[in-house]
Amino acid sequence: MNGRASNSRDEWIAATYIASQFQMWNLEPMGDNGGYVQAAEILREQMSAPAVLSAGTGQFTHGKEMLVTALTGAKVSGPLVKLAPGVTSVPAGSVVLMPEAPAGPPAAAGRGRGGAPQPTVGAALVISLATQTPEQWTTAAAKPVSAGSRFAKVTPPAGGLVRTARVALNRDAYNAVAALAEGTAVSLQAELSATKAFTWNAVGRLTGSDPTAREQFVVLGAHLDHIGMRENAPGPDKIFNGADDDASGTVAVMALAQALAAGPRPKRTLVFALFGSEEGGGTVSGSSYFVELPVVAIEKMVAQLQFEMLARPDPMVPARSLWLTGYERSNLGSQLAKQGARLVQDPRPDQSFFTRSDNIKFARKGVISHTVSSFNLHTDYHQAGDEVSKVDFAHMLDAVRSMLEPVRWLANSTFTPVWAPEGRPR
Ligand SMILES: [Zn+2]
Repeated sequence: MNGRASNSRDEWIAATYIASQFQMWNLEPMGDNGGYVQAAEILREQMSAPAVLSAGTGQFTHGKEMLVTALTGAKVSGPLVKLAPGVTSVPAGSVVLMPEAPAGPPAAAGRGRGGAPQPTVGAALVISLATQTPEQWTTAAAKPVSAGSRFAKVTPPAGGLVRTARVALNRDAYNAVAALAEGTAVSLQAELSATKAFTWNAVGRLTGSDPTAREQFVVLGAHLDHIGMRENAPGPDKIFNGADDDASGTVAVMALAQALAAGPRPKRTLVFALFGSEEGGGTVSGSSYFVELPVVAIEKMVAQLQFEMLARPDPMVPARSLWLTGYERSNLGSQLAKQGARLVQDPRPDQSFFTRSDNIKFARKGVISHTVSSFNLHTDYHQAGDEVSKVDFAHMLDAVRSMLEPVRWLANSTFTPVWAPEGRPR
């Protein structure tokens, strides 16, 4: 499948293949039009005419006096706030003029890696003095400017997306804005055009046998896409098969689906969801679609387990074992381990794997969600060498099989996992 690139024909074929297996095992369809495949339509917006910043009597145009480095919509506006040194926050929706900062990267929106709050959180627009060389300026001005991607069917959350537009001004324009009074209305306007793309999920379920408990859902997931082909890859192999990342997780979920479908029907409902566009999707990944436009209500999900990169053993944990990201954040992992899952604590917390897989989309919505993995930091990660020949099938078989009865137990029990204090991510 040419590496199952996000949003590609091959991703769609992979989803369709999984759907055909789900059908063969008599899972019930949860996709579009009575099938198992769920197509998420994506609109990729970009600037189609140079944006203009209006501030006081000044008008500054992208490519001339200004460079737009991040665009969040057709129009953003707000009152000017000239950020003074030592100020740690600004009112939501403000247009922030950054001080003539010492050299270094501009402060990012949101929280820094260390968790320190950035003063521009919640700002509509951040204006800085340009630091580009003339060559960099020309190159940047010639590039298309993305205004982000969104799902055609998903309404942005009330209050808008928490994202901040960014522009850099040349010296004269910067001075003109700096001379304006605090609170002056400033706006950035752009013309946008959209191109369409899709990503595909394959989703099926086994409805629970108990009339009450069947309204509670246990969701097993993995991502079915990978990074496709790279013509400039070293060596003759240009296809990145992603045997470990994440064909291994995908077949683990498929094997569990097949085994669970063949056995006695558990009381709770089991959902099997293979997501598209984990690799290239960002905010428009298949898992985001699944939580933003859920076919199962979020609050009815008892737990979600994501399976990611378990084709090779991790020497940091016992043989034929898997580790669970964010193990200590809830009581799910310890309970599954008590039921026989070869599941231990994530031995590599410094890698922040809890927030680097599709599980985080669920966890941020409050669902107890973790990723099951044994990724050993091998150097074939996102390389052409992530091949099926390097899969340790004995490890995979034992480790994944150890999850079967614990998952069945979870689907049959009244145990509802809970977050540990401070366990739920923000
Ligand atoms: Zn990957």
